Amino acid sequence: MHFDNSYARLPERMFSRQDPVAVVAPGLIAINPRLAAEMGLDPEVLARPDWVDVFAGNRVPDGAEPLAQAYAGHQFGGWVPQLGDGRAILLGEHIGPDGRRWDVQLKGAGRTMFSRGGDGRAWVGPVIREYLVSEAMHALGVPTTRALAAVTTGEVVYREARLPGAVLTRVASSHLRVGTFQFFAARGDTEALRLLTDMALARHYPHAEGALGLLGQAVAAQARLVARWMALGFIHGVMNTDNAHVGGITIDYGPCAFLDAYHPGRVFSSIDRSGRYAYANQPQIAVWNMAQLASCLLPLIDADPNRAIEPATAVLHGFEAAWQAEWLAQFRAKLGLATADEGDRALIEGLLDRMADGEADFTRTFRALAEGGAEAEFRDPAALRAWEPLWHARLAAEGRTPEQAQTAMRAVNPAIIPRNHRIEAAIEAAVAGDLGPFRALEAALARPFDAAPDDPLRAAPAPAEAVHQTFCGT
Ligand code: AMP
Ligand code: MG
Repeated sequence: MHFDNSYARLPERMFSRQDPVAVVAPGLIAINPRLAAEMGLDPEVLARPDWVDVFAGNRVPDGAEPLAQAYAGHQFGGWVPQLGDGRAILLGEHIGPDGRRWDVQLKGAGRTMFSRGGDGRAWVGPVIREYLVSEAMHALGVPTTRALAAVTTGEVVYREARLPGAVLTRVASSHLRVGTFQFFAARGDTEALRLLTDMALARHYPHAEGALGLLGQAVAAQARLVARWMALGFIHGVMNTDNAHVGGITIDYGPCAFLDAYHPGRVFSSIDRSGRYAYANQPQIAVWNMAQLASCLLPLIDADPNRAIEPATAVLHGFEAAWQAEWLAQFRAKLGLATADEGDRALIEGLLDRMADGEADFTRTFRALAEGGAEAEFRDPAALRAWEPLWHARLAAEGRTPEQAQTAMRAVNPAIIPRNHRIEAAIEAAVAGDLGPFRALEAALARPFDAAPDDPLRAAPAPAEAVHQTFCGT
């Protein structure tokens, strides 16, 4: 790796220098060959023992300057002035052959000054889950953190049970969270906010300028991101401000899940008792998180913060139109519509309402509309039959038949998503020493739009014993 560590050059108060804590017996779970290639790295080299040692935290590679980042955050709406990397260590920033800058972070690498009561560790379950889901999101075209490697530690992690320890190598365009800005805003540290703003602009929005420019770009990127989530039936599950990325990428895969049967109020996370982060609440929460970023940036927008409120508020008000426009664009594409018509929202909502009533599987219904046989997804097929003529008429107005639209629809409606029961099965097998199901799922999720009708992993419905609840990735 070729390191150039801009974060480590920030003032020392913005992080804590911390080497990973070595583990007993590093063992390889996976190296991601597709991401390695993008980063200009040789996956075969990364699978050798000296690199497995790096991914386990037993060896610090040349040029790395390990550190834990400081951040704060609102968790379920409640303010926590100090969170920070309690189980993650940023090794440094790798510069790829194309000049792209990649944060390389070990998640589960031992205690840091931000660990509070935690052990700084992760077990195999959440490591495999984040690896599979983040890479699936990337293959589905969603901006996200990535997974370069997963290793076992040979150590036991104590949760509800004794579990095998693991470390995930998370790679990202940065780890700048809304909570990073909040940490310094709460301390009145305007200089740190200025440095973070410059870094966020350089890394994510090089064509924008100033704090207001950053806010505008972050709001627009967040609106696009949430619309993508909605169009895939993805529920993040913990949209706390420390898990809201200023660069508009998906970060922190904890109790996330994809919808099985469509329902706008669906919640999977065991700790989200009030449904704050339910599927349909995600746009509202995203703009709430952006409002927290805006309030951090006020002193940089205008020397008189009162004068900054009006332009910042105007930018925040732009979220609604941006997200609505992106949502419409996404769902139009899902229905194979190439043009925009006033009635499209009603057409799309008409389908979604019927899906909710008919307990139709979100992914399978849209894929079946692209392949035929969607009626079978509905408890009462008549519900779909009443809607389909409206859709066909709308396509006809574009001069197309459903068959002609279906090719384009298959490129945006996935045949496979990382369903909870599949992830759970892959984890269970991995804990028992069999990585076969993990590998099969990883390979299938890398090509989510392929038809491959013989592949039993593709488009299989959730079984009766499907997972109905997910847990935080600790
Ligand atoms: P998360 O739920 O992943 O968003 O994490 C929230 C906060 O808890 C972050 O500050 C984490 O670093 C911290 N945290 C979560 N799990 C652990 C752990 N096992 N040890 C130390 N800190 C942790
Ligand atoms: Mg987090």
